[in-house]
Amino acid sequence: MYRTHTCGELRRENLSEQVMLAGWVQKIRSLGAMTFIDLRDRYGITQLVVEEHSAPEVKEAVQHLGREYVIQVTGKVIERASKNDKMATGEIEVAVSELTLLNASQTPPFTIEDNSDGGDELRMRYRYLDLRRNPLKNAMILRHRMAQEIRTFLDSKGFLEIETPYLIKSTPEGARDFIVPSRMNPGEFYALPQSPQTFKQLLMVAGYDRYFQIVRCFRDEDLRADRQPEFTQIDCEMAFVERDDVLEVFEELAKTMFRNIKGIAFDGAFPRMSYADAMEYYGCDKPDIRFGMKINDITADVQGNGFAVFDTAEYAGAICAEGCAGYTRKQLDGLTDFVKRPQIGAKGLVYIKCETDGSYKSSVDKFYSQEDLARIAGKMQANAGDLILILSGDKKKTLTALCALRLEMGDRLSLRDNSVYAPLWVVDFPLLEWDEESGRFFAMHHPFTSPNLEDLELFSSDPGKVRANAYDFVINGVEVGGGSIRIHDSNIQKKMFDVLGFTPEEAEKQFGFLMNAFKFGAPPHGGLAFGFDRWCSLFGGSESIRDYIAFPKNNSGRDTMIDSPSPVSEQQLKELSIRVTE
Ligand code: ASP
Repeated sequence: MYRTHTCGELRRENLSEQVMLAGWVQKIRSLGAMTFIDLRDRYGITQLVVEEHSAPEVKEAVQHLGREYVIQVTGKVIERASKNDKMATGEIEVAVSELTLLNASQTPPFTIEDNSDGGDELRMRYRYLDLRRNPLKNAMILRHRMAQEIRTFLDSKGFLEIETPYLIKSTPEGARDFIVPSRMNPGEFYALPQSPQTFKQLLMVAGYDRYFQIVRCFRDEDLRADRQPEFTQIDCEMAFVERDDVLEVFEELAKTMFRNIKGIAFDGAFPRMSYADAMEYYGCDKPDIRFGMKINDITADVQGNGFAVFDTAEYAGAICAEGCAGYTRKQLDGLTDFVKRPQIGAKGLVYIKCETDGSYKSSVDKFYSQEDLARIAGKMQANAGDLILILSGDKKKTLTALCALRLEMGDRLSLRDNSVYAPLWVVDFPLLEWDEESGRFFAMHHPFTSPNLEDLELFSSDPGKVRANAYDFVINGVEVGGGSIRIHDSNIQKKMFDVLGFTPEEAEKQFGFLMNAFKFGAPPHGGLAFGFDRWCSLFGGSESIRDYIAFPKNNSGRDTMIDSPSPVSEQQLKELSIRVTE
């Protein structure tokens, strides 16, 4: 037996008990004849004390301990002289009578404490040491608890957890596939699933009308803080449902998660916003509605005054930052630099200060009278003391830039509090998205999403106008989930592939299996998937999903701990009939 208790367990009630603990040495402090050791395990830290009258072997053994050594101790629980109310075990300590060294440790490359001195790369390389730290440990616990809640909830609603294969055929969902060569089928490849999309639809054809899976998905995309090449989805599908049936079940799941994990109760339904409104008023399809500062279309209000930048623009939009009229030249220049960043792409920023004395001051005073500015301020419902920020140009790009500017102002004004959650559904997405570069339509969600049946007529005449029966679940400006009612009619599916530019042969080759299945009694069905890592990071209050994945990849898609990807032997390549070119 290694231990009677964990390092997070002992309290006042255990005083005088003889206990056995095992764990890692976090810290050793010697104060004259007394030595204090912080002994850590997953459950907490317990202070050990070795003093003048301790057994000589123990006093000797303590001399040779270092950080992260693994030890086992036996001793008596005693009351601490100086209590620490920040520690769960802070009222007691263990007077060590026996100490066994279970394993020594090299000096760790960074301090394993809440605030580590290790840089990102170093901590990734030694992830198993980083995982000993509380922030990561708590993230893992949160993730586990969320997964448990999800399973319990979905099980209670009759969902079956069914695994689908990882070695599949490529299903285009927008990203690049990771491919795996098949030794037994030389020259042929599997793809790792970007999601189990087609399989869950086949499960609906099979009659398993409520399916879920907490499942790994793989997408070979450029990485960002909220993207990993392999990530986890809570993937769900239901048969015999319409959009509102799906939203109802998963809204209840979300509310259960908020209540049981965050202790937050939501009364009433989550707001629903159309894609068109989200774009128009927030400049993106994942609005952060923790704060207002909506975008206003002021194109008509600013044109015709001889200011060429506005006069020639397709669109001019503005936001009103409350109480910011006092912004200095330097602050305004800072904002201009912000919107001019290449990733935001605006050419410049026009401001109107609504001064507290009722006058207006703007960067384009030359072209606009006080009355003109007052009219714009009126339209923006701006008050004295507010600052109006205007961007103009191509509508889509300007809205995207305004979205970034709005979020930036939200940050500056502390309106994006991480402990506040504002969930909503975004609905009525367009079915298709035109891509200028390739001159073709892409499915905005994926090719299996059902068009809004009322819009079916437009399929041939004006495909860009067809709305999709699709929905996204958004919290605080983060897309946490998305899904749709699916096409279950093989003819409509054929039509969809046609609009997407697949020849009938290509469609047959890639998706014949699905279209065939639809010929055998496919029920109406729909579903969605949540990004589990993202949801965890939102609940954990962090920007990065990496913190919620035990062994993540770095920004170049590498696992520096196991040094992967890495070359394989000639023999392996030969078996796979693969030759690597320079
Ligand atoms: N498979 C979709 C995705 O990964 C989700 C869904 O439509 O259910 O985004």
